[in-house]
Amino acid sequence: MSGTKVFEDLESEVRNYCRHWPAVFSRAKGSHIYDEHGRDYLDFFAGAGVLNYGHNEPHLKAALLRYLQDDSIVHSLDMYTTAKRQFLEVFQQNILSPRGLDYKVQFSGPAGTIAVEAALKLARKFTRRRTVVSFTTGFHGMTLGALALTGYAANGPGTQSGDAVVLPYDQDHGGTTHGLLPLEHLLQDASLDIPAAVIVETVQGEGGMRTACASWLQDLARLCKNHEMLLIVDDIQMGCGRTGPFFSFEQSGIYPDIVCLSKSLSGYGLPLALTLLRPELDIWEPGEHSGTFRGPNPAFVTAVAALDFWQDETFEKETLGKSQLLEHGVRSVALEYEDAVAEARGRGMAWGIVFREPELARQTCTNAFERGLLVETNGFRRDVVKLMPPLTSTDEDIVMGLDILRHAIPARHRKGAMPKTLVAKRTGTQT
Ligand code: PLP
Repeated sequence: MSGTKVFEDLESEVRNYCRHWPAVFSRAKGSHIYDEHGRDYLDFFAGAGVLNYGHNEPHLKAALLRYLQDDSIVHSLDMYTTAKRQFLEVFQQNILSPRGLDYKVQFSGPAGTIAVEAALKLARKFTRRRTVVSFTTGFHGMTLGALALTGYAANGPGTQSGDAVVLPYDQDHGGTTHGLLPLEHLLQDASLDIPAAVIVETVQGEGGMRTACASWLQDLARLCKNHEMLLIVDDIQMGCGRTGPFFSFEQSGIYPDIVCLSKSLSGYGLPLALTLLRPELDIWEPGEHSGTFRGPNPAFVTAVAALDFWQDETFEKETLGKSQLLEHGVRSVALEYEDAVAEARGRGMAWGIVFREPELARQTCTNAFERGLLVETNGFRRDVVKLMPPLTSTDEDIVMGLDILRHAIPARHRKGAMPKTLVAKRTGTQT
């Protein structure tokens, strides 16, 4: 059977991305993904941040094939395995030690949202307090604890929780900022309990590519320390090099108490999530936060191969070089279409083009798909077109993707485009 009928008949209405990219995909390599008819699409969505090293990266694939070929362990609950040992050793050697970080590693479960749940549970257990502060337009996952922290109104019935407080996020791109006054006011209010923790993204991957500046993050870390609240950085989407360094908070110099990592950690698209804890926070009882899928050995194997990219600073430097190309391109598209685009914002290889009207953002993504580029909208108003090409994209692919995007924005908004009334007059059409 071909076509999309079986999906439409059988798959739940909850399906999402497939509605905007109505092709059936079958192969992928690097920054390219191909549908079942062999049509080539440039993938600037990269699995929402899962594919930082591109599709089917050859070293990762070779490691995985070798591992499977040898009848090695695939599933192991949380038993000790050679694959897990190697992952922990390489993670310490390539990531933690060079950065002077002494985190303990909790394998919380396969999904990002579970890493967040573990962080929340631990913060509440450690501090013996309940409230967790999060920020407007932030996103932390779809399980109920994480969803309660999501900074969007109306997540749906039953997802609100009295244990979460959402405060204004910083914006380092010229928008209004409240600094941390709202949090300071909350902390000064003697009628309220001090929160257990604060959870923050340094760049909001789902929330419209809004970015927090270093000084805001530093102030936040200071407030947390002074009030004995745990600082949780949700690096699920922005970690693993998306903003340049391995951890997105490195640029600000803060040292979070807890870090949630997932998405590109396995490097190959296999589910893997971690909750990293400062050693003194590791007060878990054995089995207290348990789960079946906490020993995803094939994911450990590809993660080890992916961590090879981080043996020295070369990969980070290359990413920063590419991110300049991306930033330059995104900014020039924004300028060219300033009639339609309010601003370009982002960091590293994570950029957003903010449209004045959500409808234009949607139209641009639809046109881009038809021209062979996968990009999606995000943000509270879904007015932001998000660009997250794999970090391993070639310069040519980045330029090509930007060119497709440029032509996907309705041409009437291009700078110097003839005003609609004039077009109508010259062509005799109605506006
Ligand atoms: N946190 C952030 C910042 C995310 O971007 C996401 C997913 O997009 C999650 C948590 C949830 O991860 P998952 O979808 O794997 O549960």
